Amino acid sequence: MKADFLELDKDEYPGFIETLRDKNEELNAFNFIQNSYGEGKIISVKDNICVKDMPATASSKILEGYKPGFDATVVRRLKENGFRVIGKTNMDEFGFGSFGLNSEKQAKNPFDEKYVSGGSSSGSAISTAIIKDHVSIAESTGGSISTPAAFCGVVGFTPTYGLVSRYGLIDYANSLDKIGFMGRNAAAIKEVFNFSLGKDAKDTTSLERELIDNNSRKLYVINGLMKGVNPLVVDRFNRLLDRLISLGYTVEYKDLEYLDYSVPTYYIISMAEASTNLAKYQGFKYGFRLKDFSLDYNDFFKSARKEFGKEAKRRVILGTFIRSQSVRSKYYDKALGIRHLIIRQMKKLLSDGLIISPTMPIFTPKIEEVNDINPVEAYSMDMLTIPPNLCGFPHVSFPYFYEKGMPMGAQLIADHFNDYSLFSVLSEWEQNFKYKFAGELG
Ligand code: GLN
Repeated sequence: MKADFLELDKDEYPGFIETLRDKNEELNAFNFIQNSYGEGKIISVKDNICVKDMPATASSKILEGYKPGFDATVVRRLKENGFRVIGKTNMDEFGFGSFGLNSEKQAKNPFDEKYVSGGSSSGSAISTAIIKDHVSIAESTGGSISTPAAFCGVVGFTPTYGLVSRYGLIDYANSLDKIGFMGRNAAAIKEVFNFSLGKDAKDTTSLERELIDNNSRKLYVINGLMKGVNPLVVDRFNRLLDRLISLGYTVEYKDLEYLDYSVPTYYIISMAEASTNLAKYQGFKYGFRLKDFSLDYNDFFKSARKEFGKEAKRRVILGTFIRSQSVRSKYYDKALGIRHLIIRQMKKLLSDGLIISPTMPIFTPKIEEVNDINPVEAYSMDMLTIPPNLCGFPHVSFPYFYEKGMPMGAQLIADHFNDYSLFSVLSEWEQNFKYKFAGELG
């Protein structure tokens, strides 16, 4: 089945906003849509990134009513270059999730509403799929850009950690969070990415570096990673490799032993960091304000924090446990050590090539199928998107195949600051295997 795409064009304004609102009723792509946006190219922004005078809720009830009086650095830079924000996109609460379902309004796949859109940047992927020439500003901690990009048939690019300032981002896990971009092709994303670069005094982890295109035609496939992939997905992926080989790329299979630990390593570190970040939402200073001061200490904070969704509560509990003194060395410190080993191993491989894999180990699932899986099963679906995120490597997911009308994505990973290598491979792919958006590959 082919999707009934909007191909919404903002030049049809004022009809544009109304049609977008109608479509949004079905798909839940946006948490907020602006009434007017003036001249300039339009972008949308994930709802955990602050835009002056627009709500910023990170899809959490606890942030209801929050309207920042400032722009995140990335938003400020884009506005200065003529871009206008049309709205804030739906997401899994605080970025916790891979399917876009951990939000009051569950996000739906634009190709077929019975299917998930992917998450946590669900709305950014959907908006890119339904609006013509659209780029959305998203964020990834452990795959939140690649995953929804793959399920919604768009390109999702996560830059090297630190290249895009995180000032104005509602943190999930500070050592992992990266602001990135979604669009329909490499050129559109590269343009917005370039405007977003530069050291920012307001984010001490932000970096300014010369970006490299290593022009490598060597692609590595990691055996251990492919082990858990659905065999039919492997079959489609092999067809992609054949096409890349026909363009002159070489493909080599490699073993990297520590990668098997990347999912638990990621979830230990990300939950530990998330639990400290969520501690500030207590109904007092951050988040909505409680009025009833007659409650005692515990009841007061409890009445605010009960507003967290199920997954957020799970992460507060597990993250707090992981950080507790009695088990800290057993889990957290060990995870930091393994993270280091994984970075070293992958970096060695990336010194002369790129790593390629399917983006997700499964075909796009139906919403009802995901409702049935347990948290550990859900976390293990991130096995292919976590490694580059854990290491801060730039990576991109791009659509390469349609299975029964639903898109599939593949993911390319490059070494730190080799972000431009990804764009060149992708542009070459786009030129040689032209595909009509939402249609069959050529
Ligand atoms: N699914 C992962 C998680 O829940 C990734 C989310 C993200 O990148 N924000 O942590």
